[in-house]
Amino acid sequence: MSADSARICGACSLCCTLLRVDELGKPGGTPCRNQRSDGPGCGIHVTRPSICRAYRCLWLQGSLEQQDRPDRLGAVLDLRPVGESLRLEVKLAEPGGFDASPRLRAIAERYRGSMPVRITDLAAPLDPDAPFRVLLPNGEEQRVAGERVTLLREGRVVAERRLPWLERRVRRLLLAWSGFRLRRAARRRGA
Ligand code: SF4
Ligand code: SF4
Repeated sequence: MSADSARICGACSLCCTLLRVDELGKPGGTPCRNQRSDGPGCGIHVTRPSICRAYRCLWLQGSLEQQDRPDRLGAVLDLRPVGESLRLEVKLAEPGGFDASPRLRAIAERYRGSMPVRITDLAAPLDPDAPFRVLLPNGEEQRVAGERVTLLREGRVVAERRLPWLERRVRRLLLAWSGFRLRRAARRRGA
């Protein structure tokens, strides 16, 4: 979406598909209608929303290796504050892209030593049952699908549980609210 002095987005515009832009009523995981049709880049560059101007993925900030530009890596990576610590967010361009990419797995292993790594594919961004997984620093992995949470250790299932009712309810309400805001923003821009 933008550039810094050391790296530039170049041919990459993956965040313009994978990320949510409330100002445009654009859910995550769907291409932005303002992406240029004749190549990478933004068709409304001068007037693009402030969130697009401000956004810099982890690679653009100078982390990761030069060859890990998101369109080549197959995922957009960010560090997100969670309470007083950080979480690495991996948003996949394709379902199954994490397991298929040795490079992505190596990056996740490096970060999980100090923080959880959350891996999401955004095929159904507003589906409260959309699965995701979290690699934990202690070597365990949580896989969440709908109401089910499966805990794995060294690749083997060690526990399964149901999400607490309240947690499940709150998640559904937040996603419904998010969907409502996105639809409202889209209607306003279309008006
Ligand atoms: S994902 Fe990163 S490198 Fe790619 S366009 Fe967005 S900010 Fe630029
Ligand atoms: S408005 Fe431009 S920079 Fe923002 S998501 Fe759309 S194409 Fe990308």
